[in-house]
Amino acid sequence: MCSERKASRTRPPPWRTAARFYQLKSGHALTGVYLKNTDNRPDDHCWWCDPENISGTQHTRDHLFKHCSRWKDQQAELWVRVKEATKRAKRKLRVGDLLADERCSPAGVGLPTEHERLPR
Ligand SMILES: [Zn+2]
Repeated sequence: MCSERKASRTRPPPWRTAARFYQLKSGHALTGVYLKNTDNRPDDHCWWCDPENISGTQHTRDHLFKHCSRWKDQQAELWVRVKEATKRAKRKLRVGDLLADERCSPAGVGLPTEHERLPR
């Protein structure tokens, strides 16, 4: 199997990544806190790094982007790119500000631009 074909099987389509970005930006991502607030989950702890709810770690945007052990590799790559674009370190930037900053827009972090097809 060629590597390009293999990559297309493991990587989500661009529109799905864009959809997740806008869910995160609008505060409607399926985090533990959102699911609990919408009565779709009994608790809001992180199911990746605290599955037994021992530490009580809330599954929030901030947790996913900065602290969750499940996403350490992706966080490291993201924050390197953010620092290059904004000159601000992870500890100096709130996730809400990150998602609102044009330099960290979908195009800035490698997501589809407004000219590419998005889901309807
Ligand atoms: Zn976690």
